[in-house]
Amino acid sequence: MATPAPTKTTSTNISVPVTPPPAPPDAAAAAAPAAAPSEGQPLHFLQRIKLFSGLSVDECQQVVKRMKRRDFPPNQIIVREGAPGNSMFFITAGLVEVRKKDPNTGIDFLLTEMGPGQNFGEMSLLTGKPRTATVSALQPTTCAVLEQKDFQELFMQYPKIGLALTTILADRVEQASQQVGIEFINLAKMQIDPRVLQLLPQPMMVQHRVLPVAFANNRLTLAMTNPNNIIALDDIRRVIKGVMIEPVIVTEEDFRKFMNTTYQQLTKKEDEPAATSGGKQSELIGAPKAEVTVDLLQSDIIRDLQMTEDLQASVTTDNKQELMNASEDAPIIRLANSILGLAIKKGTSDIHIEPMETDVQVRFRIDGVLQVVQNLPKKVQLGLVSRLKILSKLDISEKRLPQDGRISVQMEGKPIDFRVSSVPAKWGEKICMRILDKSNTTLGLDKVISHEPVLKLVRELVSQPYGIMYVTGPTGSGKTTTLYSALAEINEPGINISTAEDPIEYDLPGVVQIQANKDIGLDFARILRAFLRQDPDVILVGETRDKETAQIAVEAALTGHMVFTTLHTNSAAGAFVRLGEMGVEPFLMSASTVGVMAQRLTRRLCQKCKEPTEIDDTVRQYLGLSKDDVTYKGKGCEYCNEKGVKGRVGIYEVMKMNAELRSMVAKGASTEDIHACAVKNGMIDLKAYAGILLREGLTSVEEVLQVVSVQE
Ligand SMILES: [Zn+2]
Repeated sequence: MATPAPTKTTSTNISVPVTPPPAPPDAAAAAAPAAAPSEGQPLHFLQRIKLFSGLSVDECQQVVKRMKRRDFPPNQIIVREGAPGNSMFFITAGLVEVRKKDPNTGIDFLLTEMGPGQNFGEMSLLTGKPRTATVSALQPTTCAVLEQKDFQELFMQYPKIGLALTTILADRVEQASQQVGIEFINLAKMQIDPRVLQLLPQPMMVQHRVLPVAFANNRLTLAMTNPNNIIALDDIRRVIKGVMIEPVIVTEEDFRKFMNTTYQQLTKKEDEPAATSGGKQSELIGAPKAEVTVDLLQSDIIRDLQMTEDLQASVTTDNKQELMNASEDAPIIRLANSILGLAIKKGTSDIHIEPMETDVQVRFRIDGVLQVVQNLPKKVQLGLVSRLKILSKLDISEKRLPQDGRISVQMEGKPIDFRVSSVPAKWGEKICMRILDKSNTTLGLDKVISHEPVLKLVRELVSQPYGIMYVTGPTGSGKTTTLYSALAEINEPGINISTAEDPIEYDLPGVVQIQANKDIGLDFARILRAFLRQDPDVILVGETRDKETAQIAVEAALTGHMVFTTLHTNSAAGAFVRLGEMGVEPFLMSASTVGVMAQRLTRRLCQKCKEPTEIDDTVRQYLGLSKDDVTYKGKGCEYCNEKGVKGRVGIYEVMKMNAELRSMVAKGASTEDIHACAVKNGMIDLKAYAGILLREGLTSVEEVLQVVSVQE
């Protein structure tokens, strides 16, 4: 039927699945039946858009004729803040983000994300004022665009649109006032009552980077450098009981400046009068005085628990019982959950819980870099570590030996696993947790490969009927994600896909996934041999690291199967030497390989604060950049936590085999010669791909040099 409209209308969920792109509006109109609409008839795609929900299919078809389809690649700005608004946009596919600049600090703020069924740009169309926010595409996005002239005519023609518009505007106002809840403030410009400042003990303010700035009607306006800091909010609610907290955001620098200067002055002045009129503070807040130490264990407020694991199962001895008691304290449970939840939300790959001499450090690895999230009081150590060990089904009374376990949780319906390891360290057991996001929402070759021609080439390779495709690169270069993305693209009921993995990092529906287990002799080679008796079409082998696996993979490829696997080599051309070392005959490699892909991951420059930067001529030459090529660096802003980088971006080198390369491989040519031949045949190598990313401002020279020089 001719209603290809998306069904999902999520607005703020980042994991919106890519909806199939609907046909262009005019195509939809052309293909739609001319018959009168009836109850059972599928919705016209416009009817799913609130503004037009009151119109009949026929009326929608009239409206659609006035719209123009426009497509936006990821990162493209669709409307810019301050620009004149002369059209409105209806998202039919994709995902956009709406950002607004804070006039005080010049920092961009993410207001919301929008997906299919939502629209934007109507405000300035109605008011005639410049655009109040910037909207840019996060995914390939298609919009139906309605211009001012047409909009006015439609409005006159269909009064129902006017009614729907009123509802939309009311929603918008409500959303806007919610977002105002977390506004940006500039401490230097504020008059802060010293008595309000004394509501919280200074160590707590410094620890959590928070500052009480106003207090009225039992509402505390709290300036925070990180409004997601749940632990801070919990702590503060414990100190000032029963208070409503309204967070506002301050920059780290503003906070530091204030604490170093204004805070000292304000509190000094207040010190003496406070001594004489001691009742003032409690009078002001109507609650007990602030306490000086942070003590999560004493908290009596934190009660909402959401545990999915059966805690009683492992209790057997008295000794364990003590630890169990410590770990079952409600604040401890909440703290453990907060850490896991925050880590997932922040896109963390590893969590480190590190007991130190006087406190417990919590660090997250985000985009490959470890950062301190929080220092917790020493007294939570025993409970927190025990809690995490129970969740991981580890023996809580065993503290002298390293242990490995696993935690499985659900977050917003997504299954997420933590691989947990505990080791005895000087100041107590150190816990490290690797997060394995098993849902496949992040998979998709188009999500990992940014350069269109290379993406096309990879898609061509993975859809071959038989042969081997190798993905190479050092550990942590994203090889597994690429392979899974390839599988996710070709996965359909008519194809039998089997994988041998160690560990299983994603769940793919409809795919037979087998976990290798060396302890019982279930290695890749053995699984692979078993697969071949199971009539597979596509086989994924986690890694080719021994002769037997390499040879069975080649055999499978030559008998009509498509095999995906990884190799530990630096370049695409280097794969053949490595295979040779594993004992694969050159003529067999030549006959079985359809392509080799090498890859690296670098940190992606923050697209909000990148700025052009000078580079040295030698480096310019080395990377093959011309005098006119502009390169960028990240300046650091609120969006990227002042890091200048956000997320990661892959560098790829894709070698598709052809007659010339096959003949070279069969003759045992050197890695250099094969590489040169591939480049001559049009291969974009790692360095050239890095050049593309640099020119697009997606990464910086420093990042590229770190990963690409490895190959030289
Ligand atoms: Zn930034």
